[in-house]
Amino acid sequence: MQKYFTMNKARENKPHIGVFGRCNVGKSTLINKLVGQEISIVSSLAGTTTDAVKKTMEIKGIGAVVLIDTAGIDDTSELGKKRVEKAYEVFSQIDLAIIAFNNDFGNYENKLIDECKRLNIPYVLVYTKSDLLSIRKDLKATIEKTYNHKIIEFSQNNPKSVASLTKKLQNLIPPTSYQKKGILKGLIKENSVVLLVAPIDSAAPEGRLILPQVQLIRDVLDNNAIVIVVKETELEYALKNVYPNPDLVVTDSQVFDYVNKIVPNNISLTSFSIVLARLKGAFEEYVKGTPMLDKLKDGDRILMLESCAHQPTCEDIGRVKLPNMIKKYSQKSVEFDVVAGQSPFPREIKEYVMVIQCGGCVATEKQLHSRLLPIIEAKIPISNYGISIAYMSGIFQRATKMFVKK
Ligand code: SF4
Repeated sequence: MQKYFTMNKARENKPHIGVFGRCNVGKSTLINKLVGQEISIVSSLAGTTTDAVKKTMEIKGIGAVVLIDTAGIDDTSELGKKRVEKAYEVFSQIDLAIIAFNNDFGNYENKLIDECKRLNIPYVLVYTKSDLLSIRKDLKATIEKTYNHKIIEFSQNNPKSVASLTKKLQNLIPPTSYQKKGILKGLIKENSVVLLVAPIDSAAPEGRLILPQVQLIRDVLDNNAIVIVVKETELEYALKNVYPNPDLVVTDSQVFDYVNKIVPNNISLTSFSIVLARLKGAFEEYVKGTPMLDKLKDGDRILMLESCAHQPTCEDIGRVKLPNMIKKYSQKSVEFDVVAGQSPFPREIKEYVMVIQCGGCVATEKQLHSRLLPIIEAKIPISNYGISIAYMSGIFQRATKMFVKK
């Protein structure tokens, strides 16, 4: 198996910290003390909304972070259950979790810790009301032994406990969460010429480019490089008449085959979907899982995952073009389910022989990671739109070779 250069875990330049705990455990006081001011990050629709509330704030000694206050995880009312679901969804966005608790530490807290471990998210255990009642000695010993984590005993009246919590957060925030993401990082340099191929068909939105195209243009400009954008119909003309020749061509996957025939072999070629997969998808898993396309049988079912809900068109890639291409390539009668956004999978994951994820331009790396984790754990092969198309078009090597470690 070849080794590929995948991107660092960089996602945002502000670390995201989720604060979890039961109702009235003292999360708001904790947040106020942490940021050194009385702030409210409760929703304007408090009591009616199910969403967690996020706000960018400064923590002295750490800098700007996004703090996400979640609903009490022991709320068993009808609305409360929805809030708890939303609280768990926050795990897909965060770099670090604060788990606040009192002397009734139990199943709710264990479940939060399990989620952190499952998603590999560092966490801090904070006993919140030590100014009112000390933590039980036996409880403290059991928790610290079970989880091998030192508990922060927090008192709103004691500045030292704020300082210890800040220090702990400082030490645990992954350094990569401060880094800014760069889609083409390592592939281009200052003054490189990047040619983007953006087809405008009936699936293209009216009067604008789609998000992956916009993100790539911005990324090239951020690298002080030069970007040229053409439709596939003008590609040949551009290659012959625009000087200098590009260092890299990034195409929409749908015209991969066509573009591959036109772009000379000495120019690197890949797709929007592949560079996004390398930035924040499960790139190596995709590369490993894609050859499943050669093993499909009649009646097999494939799950197509799209990170956004968009209005499907008659030329939709996930619903029409890619399924048709797979049926033609495999010569098998394969069934497809398509799931958009964060909706639940329509069947047990084991019922699928393969999962194919879109580029995920609207998703964060964490969101994609937690979406794909149960699939990887179930050992179901995964691929992504661009890598599948490159594979079936016979250009897999060419489209991924720039990421192979030599
Ligand atoms: S999230 Fe996926 S389906 Fe939606 S625009 Fe981005 S790549 Fe396409």
